Amino acid sequence: MLLRHTTAEDHERKALTVNPAKTCQPVGAMYAALGVHGCLPHSHGSQGCCSYHRSALTRHFKEPVMASTSSFTEGSSVFGGLSNLVQAIDVIFKVYNPEVIAIHTTCLSETIGDDIVQIIGKAKEDGHVPDGKYVIHCNTPSYVGTHITGYSNMVSGLIRYFSTATPKKKNAINLIAGWMEPSDMREIKRLAKEMETRTILFPDMSDVLDTPLTGKTVMFPKGGTTIPELIATGDSKFTIGLGNYSTEDACVKLENKCKVKYESIEIPIGLKATDRFIQALSRHANVPVPDSITEERGRLIDLIADNSKYFYGKRVALWGDPDTLIPLVEFLVTLDMKPVYIVTGTPGKHFDESMTEILKDKVPEAKFMSGERADMFQLHTWIKQQGVDLLIGNTYGKYIARDENIPLIRLGFPIVDRAGFNFFPHVGYVGATNLAIKILHAILEHQDATCLEEKVELQM
Ligand code: SF4
Repeated sequence: MLLRHTTAEDHERKALTVNPAKTCQPVGAMYAALGVHGCLPHSHGSQGCCSYHRSALTRHFKEPVMASTSSFTEGSSVFGGLSNLVQAIDVIFKVYNPEVIAIHTTCLSETIGDDIVQIIGKAKEDGHVPDGKYVIHCNTPSYVGTHITGYSNMVSGLIRYFSTATPKKKNAINLIAGWMEPSDMREIKRLAKEMETRTILFPDMSDVLDTPLTGKTVMFPKGGTTIPELIATGDSKFTIGLGNYSTEDACVKLENKCKVKYESIEIPIGLKATDRFIQALSRHANVPVPDSITEERGRLIDLIADNSKYFYGKRVALWGDPDTLIPLVEFLVTLDMKPVYIVTGTPGKHFDESMTEILKDKVPEAKFMSGERADMFQLHTWIKQQGVDLLIGNTYGKYIARDENIPLIRLGFPIVDRAGFNFFPHVGYVGATNLAIKILHAILEHQDATCLEEKVELQM
């Protein structure tokens, strides 16, 4: 197979990344912008960047992803992209009529040093932004950071451009969604509704990237956080950020701008992270946890207890985004599994500290790494040194799965060789139950397929 030359030998590397566990900043900015109702993401750079970002999202979600580009040529690369962007803003409002254009930069426009604030100002001055319409932006130089950085930058941009504090405070809780699937956002909203809390979830890609086929073509789907909701986030009484890497910067900016206090917690993947989310929502909204949610929790515990012998001691290798990996690794430890190898291409101390804290007592032999050198090659090297029972991560792990004959659970971004990941949640107690069942099935199916014939059991 493709990776047959990977060996168990550890290589000291300073300047080489092989099969990175990340993608580029604008992909995240584009994804976050799609969570605003009536928003057209705009890529300020060359056409190739925009095509790549759109196709990365389309291939994962199996949905059309609309976005425009400044279409840089040699001329704009030399003289700057001002005239391209001003013209683009004019044409986009005339032809597509979005509520908001969300501009993100690319490596090229960042290297040139285009001042997007000044360009937006020029477009307004020249009358290219109709009344009641918005043009927002964030900087996403992709030679630093990852798609998670880009996502975070665009979410912070939403705060910068929209959140407004007025004397009229509202009894609402802001829920800032980290990078998760539309199904997860739908589940978060269901849980908030079940708890009878008033929340503003943003960005919100449900009903944007999981839309039904109706036979009618619409440029902008019905989902997404609306502009009035985004403006109102400045009057909410509290903010809960879900996922440190994707949302903490936005939480801080909202507190600084509108004095809305915040708590940053992990995305509610697994038992303990969901407990923390439900408790935080209950505490800050001042509402009790309803029996219906306690029962969902009970069903998850029952499933774990019934199948603990299958989970126990299984060695797992994982890769992906830190906001997903931290609660996921914690969940695997809750299941008495052994997450032994973990890599994320997104750099940051929070990941390293969280891994140390979660793994130090239960899986002291675990190896984890974050940043540019934390790539799929490194993960494969570790697996060659001592094998694992299960892989959890995006599509890029399928080569390791095939080479090493290890079952793979697809989770994260991108998943481009299977469908439906935007439909079934992994958050909340229901999501944790889905996840535990997936793990269980992967382990048992592998056992059925590979054990000696005399060991095949009808009932397991
Ligand atoms: S890494 Fe830079 S040049 Fe490459 S697609 Fe992303 S923004 Fe464009």
